[in-house]
Amino acid sequence: MTTCRCPAPECEKVPSPGGRVGGLCEGCRGKAARALIELPTLYEALAMPPGRSCGPRRERVSGSRSRPAPMAAAAVESRGETLAVLASWSGVVAEGRAEPAPPREAGALAAFLLRRLDWLGGHRAAGEFAAEIAGVLARARHAAGPAVPVAELGPCVHPGCSGVLLPLPGGEAGCAAGHRWQPAQLLLLAHRLRLSA
Ligand SMILES: [Zn+2]
Ligand SMILES: [Zn+2]
Repeated sequence: MTTCRCPAPECEKVPSPGGRVGGLCEGCRGKAARALIELPTLYEALAMPPGRSCGPRRERVSGSRSRPAPMAAAAVESRGETLAVLASWSGVVAEGRAEPAPPREAGALAAFLLRRLDWLGGHRAAGEFAAEIAGVLARARHAAGPAVPVAELGPCVHPGCSGVLLPLPGGEAGCAAGHRWQPAQLLLLAHRLRLSA
């Protein structure tokens, strides 16, 4: 391979000298990480269209009867797509690294991919991965509407990390570089930061 341009679509960056050749650039890796952090939150939010229980999903029938409202249909579709994309890339990683794949659950799959992002960012299909993740994120955001902001918790507390902490499912927090913090650790760190400020 002679090209060392970042393989993400619409990105012309050449990874910095001395950096990995042929992988996603720093910026695209960060973008993918942010998407992986946000997707499970959106996935959960899309599970709760107003007034719907989580009973078995009805097949859509052509015609007018029992057709879900457009918003609910978009939510169901987006959830299905999100899960499928996360599961398929987790499958690529699991197979490539000969590791067991995580359970087919949005939070577990996203966390798995987040932890293996360095490996996946250097994979020959990294550009495709970046494009697909960006696509599902855009459609999930669209389906969820403007009401699901993912609040930033502040700068990552890992020494030397310039990432931003975002809430993860299960009460943890994580940054785009893959640092993860338990709630108890965060409290301790927040305390320490206050002391050093
Ligand atoms: Zn890039
Ligand atoms: Zn960090």
